[in-house]
Amino acid sequence: MRDENCLFCKIIAGEIPSSVVFENEKVFAFKDINPQAPVHIIIVPKDHIACADEINSVNSTSVAACFEAVPEIAKKMGLDNGYRVINNCGADGGQTVMHLHFHLIGGEKLSEKIV
Ligand code: 5GP
Ligand code: ZN
Repeated sequence: MRDENCLFCKIIAGEIPSSVVFENEKVFAFKDINPQAPVHIIIVPKDHIACADEINSVNSTSVAACFEAVPEIAKKMGLDNGYRVINNCGADGGQTVMHLHFHLIGGEKLSEKIV
């Protein structure tokens, strides 16, 4: 399902351009517009799920599909030495786009920080 007001739904539909790195039936992945590391990819389920707090037994196959895509995307982006996968949820989590997404970050030795 799509949310007409959602930025990432518009990106998935190609209505807003993005630098696409991976796509299959359930998953879309593109370069972050404001990268926090040499490689910074946004991985989203094509189904509009607002945030991690809305994951349930019906829509979790879309979430699983995102994680199943991680190794292929990481390999394609040359992240042979490791990477970090991050989800921000809600206001306290710092989520700014309310379409569930996973940040795939790497391409350098990442800082030791919150986790
Ligand atoms: P959040 O803060 O919600 O976890 O992450 C949202 C991410 O989406 C941010 O890293 C931000 O740079 C990225 N972003 C926001 N708008 C756009 C856009 O129009 N295009 C792309 N490629 N990334 C975007
Ligand atoms: Zn959406």
